[in-house]
Amino acid sequence: MKGWSAVNERADRSCPALLIDNVVKSYGRVRALDGVSFDVRPGEFIALLGPNGAGKSTLFQLLSGLFVPDSGRIEVMSHDMSLDPVPALAQLGIVFQQPTLDLELTVTANLMFHAGLHGLPPATAQKHIDDELARLGLKDRAADKASKLSGGNRRRVELVRALMHEPRVLLMDEPTVGLDPASRGDLLKLLLGMRAQRGIAVLWATHLCDEVPDADRVIVLHRGKVLADTTPAQLIASAGASTIEQAFLAMTGGNHERD
Ligand code: ADP
Repeated sequence: MKGWSAVNERADRSCPALLIDNVVKSYGRVRALDGVSFDVRPGEFIALLGPNGAGKSTLFQLLSGLFVPDSGRIEVMSHDMSLDPVPALAQLGIVFQQPTLDLELTVTANLMFHAGLHGLPPATAQKHIDDELARLGLKDRAADKASKLSGGNRRRVELVRALMHEPRVLLMDEPTVGLDPASRGDLLKLLLGMRAQRGIAVLWATHLCDEVPDADRVIVLHRGKVLADTTPAQLIASAGASTIEQAFLAMTGGNHERD
């Protein structure tokens, strides 16, 4: 396969909301991330597309400060994650792949608990919660236990929680896992709208090619390396394919196992 590393379109040169520069992370002999570099600019929706084992979760763990890279640099809104983690993390909102709501607490209690962790005054937090739940059509569910909500609505509550401290960068780690097709589509549409309305940068990790076409850019991660960083249309055109899935298979040879 020739020329994939050159698939790299850049139109806007504004200061990145998120910068990942030559990041390496190994687990013993496995190089989960092998010199990963890309950026996400304010207001961009980026799909990070990779099969299982590509390194997406490892990258999200580094971005959320759970681990540090072996080498390389991560910056959030120009704050270095290693040197200046507090302001860097303050600009990040994260929705993890695994559900994280306390199912025995009400929706409001889940959100108020998180607001407290961020030091938000209760009145400010309550107003934010009321506004966001209303915006997402969940106002009448505020007093329900989280266990009463559908999977799609739990994800929406997790999204409200991730946005509580008004971050500039939102990380979504395979957020549609376990959702039915309609809820998957709704969540994706919601996020695409949000980046347009709020100018928030979104990094959306997925292994599902059908979640990619509306992204501003797609970054293909395979065996810990970035194979492409381009627009969905350009990805398809460069492969002479007619769908993202065909282009992706052409790039990876359909072989996702690590040597
Ligand atoms: P993805 O999220 O794209 O499925 P991961 O980041 O989970 O990819 O995994 C990348 C590679 O790192 C895989 O080969 C996986 O087996 C390996 N890996 C991930 N976490 C660990 C760990 N804690 N210990 C050892 N190997 C790991």
